[in-house]
Amino acid sequence: MKVTFLGTGTSQGIPVIGSNHPVCLSSDFKDKRLRVSVLIEWDNYIYVVDCGPDFRQQMLKVNCKKIDGILFTHEHADHTAGLDDIRPFFYRQGNIPIYAKKRVLKSLRRRFDYIFTEENKYPGAPSVEQHKIKNKPFTLGNLEIVPVKGYHNQLSVYGFKFNDFAYLTDIKTIENEEIEKIRGVKVLVINALRYKPHESHFNLEEALDFINKVNPDTAYLTHISHLLGFHEEVQSTLPKNVFLAYDNLQITI
Ligand SMILES: [Zn+2]
Ligand SMILES: [Zn+2]
Repeated sequence: MKVTFLGTGTSQGIPVIGSNHPVCLSSDFKDKRLRVSVLIEWDNYIYVVDCGPDFRQQMLKVNCKKIDGILFTHEHADHTAGLDDIRPFFYRQGNIPIYAKKRVLKSLRRRFDYIFTEENKYPGAPSVEQHKIKNKPFTLGNLEIVPVKGYHNQLSVYGFKFNDFAYLTDIKTIENEEIEKIRGVKVLVINALRYKPHESHFNLEEALDFINKVNPDTAYLTHISHLLGFHEEVQSTLPKNVFLAYDNLQITI
């Protein structure tokens, strides 16, 4: 299985528009972060988790020619706003499968009504195939995917376990029984926003505590704010099996 980090930044991305913060002005490519998403490939399957406002740019960057589906963690714009840009895939492949919980599908139907409408559909609008997921395993291609439920302030969000790879973002609290699902996984991805606590995201300390509980071989941090600091400086402070992810990083599991 190959995983490509398409974006590793928090909701505004890095640099933040108009910001003079030193991290936003950094020339290190690792300090430039699009909105979070990962591309996951195994056998001949290609899936994307989340489809934020940078989706088009991200698909061009990796020269992605087809996708078998999109999994949504939750409905926030930084994870969903790029849905219109599935059009090139739709024109070549037909309806694009999307996987999300009921509340998220409802939100997408409201915000992208022209994609979901069955009547008087505008020519050129894409269509999707909706798959409602619950907190139990489901199949993608030849693989069983295990949803992992966490809370983003009050909002329930899903992470996903693909065999030995677990991807969770926008988590602030998570119950022990959900942690059990991913304990000892080979590679864990988890959100770490900044140093200061935040009401809906793990800060660095909370993310490191969570990593200790899950006890993966290797962990990568994502959904990073410019307030966390320069990539190289923060990386040098982390435990030896914990890495800051960066855009276009590829790992094989
Ligand atoms: Zn987010
Ligand atoms: Zn969010």
